[in-house]
Amino acid sequence: MSSTIATKLNSIHERIANAAQQAGRDPASVTLVVVTKTHPPALVAAAVAAGARDLGENRVQEALNKINALAELTPAPRWHLIGHLQRNKARLAATHFGLVHSVDSLRLAEALARHVPSGQRLPILLQFNVSGEASKEGFTLAGGASNRPALEALLPELERIVALPSLAVHGLMTIAPLADDPEAARPHFRTLRELRDELARCFPQATWRELSMGMSDDFTVAISEGATIVRLGRAILGGRQ
Ligand SMILES: *Cc1c(COP(=O)(O)O)cnc(C)c1O
Repeated sequence: MSSTIATKLNSIHERIANAAQQAGRDPASVTLVVVTKTHPPALVAAAVAAGARDLGENRVQEALNKINALAELTPAPRWHLIGHLQRNKARLAATHFGLVHSVDSLRLAEALARHVPSGQRLPILLQFNVSGEASKEGFTLAGGASNRPALEALLPELERIVALPSLAVHGLMTIAPLADDPEAARPHFRTLRELRDELARCFPQATWRELSMGMSDDFTVAISEGATIVRLGRAILGGRQ
């Protein structure tokens, strides 16, 4: 099990490095998050044995079951929460994940902030829906920074999130609409990068380094548009039930 995962991990790392080099970027500037949702702890352990260091889950309770089952793993993986988060799960999220990708409201950010252990800062990303697709979670901002009135309407809320002392905004996350052609995602990835650049100008007190975008079918396009974190499940662990 772990040898096929290792083979797939190696080939994905190669494709990440190639995509980065073609874009004139350092391959080390792209972090691979292996998305383990729906897979059992034994398979997750095999992925870690094969070299996975960053793991992504989209449901808090499912993640906690695996985090607890795999508490003895070395090296300890870094867990990423990539799915929609409800405020009543904020305490669990704030205490078990190294990076929360899916912060999409001030109320959620405040709930997380209340539960961060004292003396610590929880790294977060702000999730945006820049495509205008109705079903997507995230702050809705079709067109990104070019949609000036909608952006300006959001800025006060974003400013209050950036100011929460127990959170550290590290950048943005998006999910591109499903499409057969990976190139269809490119404009959305570019829009997210331009939005990141604009927010970095508005709020230089935060970091804004990370762009979490790109999944199994479109991660090379995302890297060419500046992704620093790609989230891959199927390409490494196979299909899900
Ligand atoms: C499931 C999921 C992924 C991984 O999708 P694959 O198509 O399996 O690579 C990435 N990001 C999010 C938010 C997900 O829910």
